Amino acid sequence: MERIYHQSSYEKEFTAVVTGCRKGKEGRWEITLNRTAFFPEGGGQPCDTGVLGGAQILDVQEENGEIIHYADRPLDEGSTVNGEICWEERFSRMQGHSGEHILTGCIHNRFGYDNVGFHMGSEEITIDFNGVLTQEELDEMETEANEVIYRNLPIEILVPSPQELSEMEYRSKKKLEGEVRIAVIPGVDRCACCGTHVARTGEVGLIKVLGMIHYKGGVRISLLCGRKALLHCRKRQKQVAALSAALAAKQDDVTEAVKRLKEENGRLEGEISRLRLESAEVKAAAFPKKDGLLAVFEEMDPVQLRKYCTLLYEGGKGTIVLACSRKGDGYQYVLGSASHDMRSLSKKMNACLNGRGGGSSLMAQGSFQAEENEIRSAFCRCAEEGIQ
Ligand SMILES: [Zn+2]
Repeated sequence: MERIYHQSSYEKEFTAVVTGCRKGKEGRWEITLNRTAFFPEGGGQPCDTGVLGGAQILDVQEENGEIIHYADRPLDEGSTVNGEICWEERFSRMQGHSGEHILTGCIHNRFGYDNVGFHMGSEEITIDFNGVLTQEELDEMETEANEVIYRNLPIEILVPSPQELSEMEYRSKKKLEGEVRIAVIPGVDRCACCGTHVARTGEVGLIKVLGMIHYKGGVRISLLCGRKALLHCRKRQKQVAALSAALAAKQDDVTEAVKRLKEENGRLEGEISRLRLESAEVKAAAFPKKDGLLAVFEEMDPVQLRKYCTLLYEGGKGTIVLACSRKGDGYQYVLGSASHDMRSLSKKMNACLNGRGGGSSLMAQGSFQAEENEIRSAFCRCAEEGIQ
């Protein structure tokens, strides 16, 4: 079985003979060929997809040394078919894989850290290192990696004999057996890798680090390479432009503008809550002093409502005061009294009005799922029962 992607990662189209076709799971057909350019998932790199003899290739896996192409329809065994891989996807992965070698090589050479985990997702690439970098060090490594791109170095694949391999220095995540392929970027990196790479570092185009988090005693770095990095930068640039327009600030000043906006917002919130309490005082003062029950319904936030209720019962505007404000389908409430137990009244009213909450003997609060007229009549009924 000839692996065309190992001879050249630039072969997009090929001809092959179908050596096997069997029905698999979920309506898929498992096809084997005498040669293939379809890269099977492995080493952190997703598989290629594409077309084979008119069938869509949805997945490619290597199982027991055999490469299985998972297709949406069967192909005749013994027939000769044309295959075409999705080149945009493949080239993007070649850029990503090569970019990963470059950045890892730079970090390994400078800090001696090992790449202990690599994943190429549909969005970004992540690399795990067994050591920690500062943000400044990471910025420096990103710059250095991009300089390797500008130098347009060759990326060579060596297939050394076991003897040559034993004398060679290279990075590897695990003990390797059988044919070992070493991807070499002169002066930058030597790594055992079965993936697909570009021929020269210049084709990677751009390596853009997106972020770094602490991970298992080391760090996990996320990045994008090539076209994906360009599209990401374009998207971010548009977001900054939109932010700049929305904030009426220069693009370089958006961070400061947001900080100022948040400060201003905090100041306004303080001002609003001060004014709300003042308005509660004014409203409470307008009630005449009287004994008995007082129920008031207002649009107020919880702090304002509590303050309002306190001012009313402490000011002698009612023996028992119920203050309510709309909240969702029901009302939030505060019950206050200097002379009666509000805990037991709130319990009674909760039972009548599908409510919840509680408090002290002086003040109780919670919510009712009921209408205003139901609340008013339950208040009279429950409070009078309690007083008698
Ligand atoms: Zn590689």
